This record gives sequence, structure tokens and C-alpha cells, in this order.
Amino acid sequence: MIKIKSREEIELMRESALIVSKTLGEVAKAIQPGVSTLELDKIAETFIRDHGAIPGFLGLYDFPNTLCMSPNEQIVHGIPNKDPLKEGDIISVDCGALKSGFYGDHAYTFAVGEIDPETEKLLQVTKESLYIGIREFRVGNRVGDVGHAIQQYTESHGFGVVRELVGHGIGKEMHEDPEMPNYGRRGRGKKFVEGMVVAIEPMINLGTHRIKQYPDGWTIKTADMKPSAHFEHDVAIVDGKPELLSTFQYIYEALGIVSDEEDEFRASS
Ligand code: MG
Ligand code: MG
Repeated sequence: MIKIKSREEIELMRESALIVSKTLGEVAKAIQPGVSTLELDKIAETFIRDHGAIPGFLGLYDFPNTLCMSPNEQIVHGIPNKDPLKEGDIISVDCGALKSGFYGDHAYTFAVGEIDPETEKLLQVTKESLYIGIREFRVGNRVGDVGHAIQQYTESHGFGVVRELVGHGIGKEMHEDPEMPNYGRRGRGKKFVEGMVVAIEPMINLGTHRIKQYPDGWTIKTADMKPSAHFEHDVAIVDGKPELLSTFQYIYEALGIVSDEEDEFRASS
């Protein structure tokens, strides 16, 4: 069942999403060759708790950490460890936080130093596909419209769209209805209405869309061991249109990036 949020609830969700946004900004400052994903996990956990929130993933379905850290061929749900990141790696960082009874949940894939042009293109196209999908999340459209837009764009670049993992509604629970696949057919699936809040999260592979699971029971990787990217935003429908609750601006401040990609999805105050 889809749980519609009131304006007041959406404002609480914006606070939760902002804590995750700022946490990813802190992680962005610390990402460099030599740092381990476990060190980054500690930075995130401390920051979330210092801001009056609870790590959203820690203990959820028994996940052992604050961040899902998925380098290179890992797609999602990687467990932080002591291995240092290397120049040329990519690292997908997925973070959740719970505050005032509501979850925030979003993700960004970072380059560690210089990366090869093919992988750079994968990151760029995956992030672009996120906004292309978000644009379809409006009153009157359907779940399939978002998935179709993401699939068409990323496949046109020759990339593989992960099928087994999908976006989701979000609110008092991390994962609510509806499921939000990154593939689909126009005009199919649940209809969007005012007050829906979802996490849209394309998981896009450089090569095959096929996946494998690690023996740890968590980590999902590409079947061909080529890199995979993951970008995620929390989005509400307000006045019929998509409005971002999360932001990458703290990441961009940390990395010295100037971007207007979020402007069209900001609250019209
Ligand atoms: Mg996430
Ligand atoms: Mg999610």
C-alpha cells in the first residue's frame, strides 16, 4: 500500500534527507587513495549521531554498518572494510538516516583520483539518468514512465540496467510501496499522486546487466566484473511536480564542483 505524506511529513522527510546529504558531503571530503571504507563509515556514523539522527542501515535487515560501500564491480550493499581505496577506483556510497520517525536514503558514486574515460562516462550517464527519471515522477504519470526513461537513456549508451534491485517508496519505513524499477514500459504500473515520496536510484553497469551475489549474503556485483554506478535521490510530489528532498550540493561543495542540475527540482518558495 502506498503511504501518502502530508506537507508536514514531507518537511520532516526533508530534514532526514538533508542529514544524509550533509553526511555524504563529509564522506566526499575524506575520499582519497589510501582511506578505507571502514574509516569513511565511522565518519558517517559519527556525523549522523552528532546531528540527532540514527544511522538508517545499521541493523536494518541485520546490515552491519552505517554505509553501504560498493567499489568498482560491486553494485550495491557492499560492507565497509579495512582495504584502502586506490587511485582509479570508483566507490558507490549509499547512506540512510532516521530522524523524527522518517528515513532519508540516497547514494552517490565517487571517483577516487583519476579514473578511466569509459568509467567516467558511466558515472556521468548514470547521474543524468537519475534526473531524467525524476522528471517523469509527477502527478498523472506512472511507475513505468520513470523506469522507461532511465532504461532508454542508459541503454542508448550501451550500458546495462540492473533488474534485480529497484528504487522504492520511503517514509516511516526505509522501503515502502511502490517499487521503482529502472526499466519498464510507458504508461504501465501504479499511478503517481500528490504527496508520494520515493527513492529513485538507477544502478547501471558498464557491461552486462547481469549480477552475482557474494558469499557474504550482502554484496551484489556485476557478473562480468566491469564497474557499476549508483546515484539516488529522495523525491516528493508537491503541487503535482517532483521536488528533491535530498541534495548533492554538499558533495559538490566538498569537491569544488559547480552544478545547476537540481535547480528545476527545488521547492518553489
Ligand atoms: Mg540507498
Ligand atoms: Mg534506496
